[in-house]
Amino acid sequence: MAAKPYVIALEEHYVDPEVKRHYTGMDARQAPGIAERLEDVGQGRIAGMDAAGIDLQVLSHANPGLQKMDAETAARLARGANDRLHETVRAHPDRFAAFAAIPTPDPKAAADELERAVTRLGFKGALVNGLTNGAFLDERRFWPIFERAAALDVPLYMHPSTPHPAVVEAYYKDYVEKYPSLLRAAWGFTVETATQGVRLVLSGVFDAYPNLKIIIGHLGEGLPFYLWRITMGFERDGRGGKSFRDVFCEHFYVTTSGFFSDPALLCCMMELGIDRIMFSVDYPFVDNPPGAKWTETLPICSEDKEKLLNGNARRLLKI
Ligand code: MN
Repeated sequence: MAAKPYVIALEEHYVDPEVKRHYTGMDARQAPGIAERLEDVGQGRIAGMDAAGIDLQVLSHANPGLQKMDAETAARLARGANDRLHETVRAHPDRFAAFAAIPTPDPKAAADELERAVTRLGFKGALVNGLTNGAFLDERRFWPIFERAAALDVPLYMHPSTPHPAVVEAYYKDYVEKYPSLLRAAWGFTVETATQGVRLVLSGVFDAYPNLKIIIGHLGEGLPFYLWRITMGFERDGRGGKSFRDVFCEHFYVTTSGFFSDPALLCCMMELGIDRIMFSVDYPFVDNPPGAKWTETLPICSEDKEKLLNGNARRLLKI
């Protein structure tokens, strides 16, 4: 039997105690069992990784992170949170790497903190949770963040958060009480993050920063499945330039976070190619063992499996 492949998982979450103290409303409540596992960045987490055969977690702050705070608070908390995450990685450098939490409510501070985290702390990029106080990140005022990420040659991970309150009101409120996941993993997260992906392409940010790389989780939040139709639709608008497909396939990477489906993976492989797909679990919102077990039965060759489980992440994150 072949040796077990090295496994890197890159949408794996924790919470910083100081950031969490500033959460309000629904964000301050966490499902039973989840809060403890989010706070554990030591032996319990590592034991769970060992049991599932996961060698390295790239840690990132759980939703909503710093994205719903005022600019001053977000900028102030970012530095301490990233310094503490750095200590976590330093305690287990062979088991953890990190994506920075960046204070997007203050775009200049976010760009500077990204640079500090990458150049001083050895972080692999940054993860942003959903809208920044109701705004999509493709707005021009946020472009200093993309400019810096491209210059540093690190990816930005666009992670979901709960949808805009106006969207919840118009689209979801009838079913939220009985099915709170409607706002999250079941549907709301996907729509919000896919919309962010589409808007980034339309914004022209990839023309401005050709080296910009974006990661989205959950096997691309539906975008690979819709790639043909989105591309066809925008061609109708007759604006010229690169097709949606070309921009998406050149600048986006997807992960398997919380989405262990053969047909969905095969769709991503056919649309994007295996080189742009990376393994993730979405711990602790999803358990490690089902993700690890799924990879054992994938209908793909061992070379592609190596790319999925570690090779692509090594290349993109320079691990
Ligand atoms: Mn996640």
